[in-house]
Amino acid sequence: MSTPKFSTKFPTTPRLGHYDVVIVGGATSGSSIAWHLQTNAGFHGSILVVERDPSLQFSATKASNNCMRQQFATKINVEIAQYAAAFVKRYGSNFGYDPCVPDDPIRNFGYLYLSDSQSFTEVLQKDQQLQAGCGAGTEIISAEDVKRKYPFFFTGDLDAGSLNTKDEGAFNAIGMVEWMRKSAQESGVDYINNEVVEMVTDGPRIQSVKLRSGESISVNTVVNAAGTRAAQVSRLAGIELPIEARRRYTYIFSVDDPLPQDLPLTIDPTGVHLRSYGSKDYLVGCPPIGPDVAVDVDDFSFAENAWDEKVLPIITRRIPQFNTARVTDSWMGHYEFNTFDHNAIVGAHDTVKNFHFCVGFSGHGSQQAPACGRAVAELIVYGAFKTLDLGALSYSRIPENRPLTERAVI
Ligand SMILES: Cc1cc2nc3c(=O)[nH]c(=O)nc-3n(C[C@H](O)[C@H](O)[C@H](O)COP(=O)(O)OP(=O)(O)OC[C@H]3O[C@@H](n4cnc5c(N)ncnc54)[C@H](O)[C@@H]3O)c2cc1C
Repeated sequence: MSTPKFSTKFPTTPRLGHYDVVIVGGATSGSSIAWHLQTNAGFHGSILVVERDPSLQFSATKASNNCMRQQFATKINVEIAQYAAAFVKRYGSNFGYDPCVPDDPIRNFGYLYLSDSQSFTEVLQKDQQLQAGCGAGTEIISAEDVKRKYPFFFTGDLDAGSLNTKDEGAFNAIGMVEWMRKSAQESGVDYINNEVVEMVTDGPRIQSVKLRSGESISVNTVVNAAGTRAAQVSRLAGIELPIEARRRYTYIFSVDDPLPQDLPLTIDPTGVHLRSYGSKDYLVGCPPIGPDVAVDVDDFSFAENAWDEKVLPIITRRIPQFNTARVTDSWMGHYEFNTFDHNAIVGAHDTVKNFHFCVGFSGHGSQQAPACGRAVAELIVYGAFKTLDLGALSYSRIPENRPLTERAVI
């Protein structure tokens, strides 16, 4: 995992006793909200971002595999991904010139879903139609075409593939967070290293938040951008959220004989996914071997040997040329998993109306932060969405039991 490019030494004490907006969590979501709010011409208030660990070491953000795709099963997620692509392509105009940002901020090797059954191919075909309707470049290709484009794959068991190489691939997700954070700070957003431990409510409003260091801050609006801890933060206001931490493993590996071309982010029918990493190495991600269950937010133990028992057999079957694969780095991070419908929850609570959410990304939050951060900013400034309407992701769908299930979760 990368080390921060900019200073993460924040003061611990807030500058003011009252803020218009307090954002709990200063990683991808919190920083996107802060940046979009501060750069919104209609906003003239004060913003405090409270981050309990500015190194972000244990955040979902730090564990991200830095990828974006438009191959989703819900329209809103395709549109959210399209804003992510547009946003990172404007790095220069958003944040000023950065010599570390490549000319093309998206490495467009694409995503390739592999199907080994007619029934899954039909699912991919349906999704392709939805994606194409939004202008995405997804194509369903035959197993023979998979082999023709990527001759190194074993395709004997495959029925088809779903491929898009336009605005899909890897991007500098952690760099984006650092730039949003730095740019927000420079334009007047206060970041502190502290923890929100209490919220004082008065009927349908949060009046103030209390910090671990003891200070109370009165607020107009509070935003929960606490990622894997979103449920705990919500509970401070007496609200339950269906979000839990789930283990996900990432391995970086080298091989003696690298592929002659980029490996798209390939989702094997087993659910293991792998892609090019740098020029000659590869990244593979997978869920746990056993049941995919909630874990403690502080539990970062590498609980199993997924590499030997799961990953290696799958990747060498799919790409026999990888039989010399050896691990050079690995980490385990937590998805902030929304058990209700695997989708983000964006916007205000239905009764505590000055409490907003930007949570529950279920493994897509790096790419969803630009659009969701902008959406929360618009709700705070205008009381309504002005660009992309994310009403489908509102909190109210939970008490009203209207899941918007995102099937394409990897
Ligand atoms: C292994 C892995 C791979 C992934 N790969 C991808 C990918 O390729 N593409 C993609 O789009 N997404 C990916 N994701 C998902 C993505 O990383 C997350 O959805 C996203 O980073 C969530 O950001 P966040 O800011 O909402 O939450 P987090 O990153 O969890 O940040 C929340 C922050 O809130 C702080 N906080 C919590 N409680 C408090 C409190 N009470 N007071 C103050 N601060 C608090 C925490 O310290 C933390 O820094 C991946 C996730 C994992 C685990």
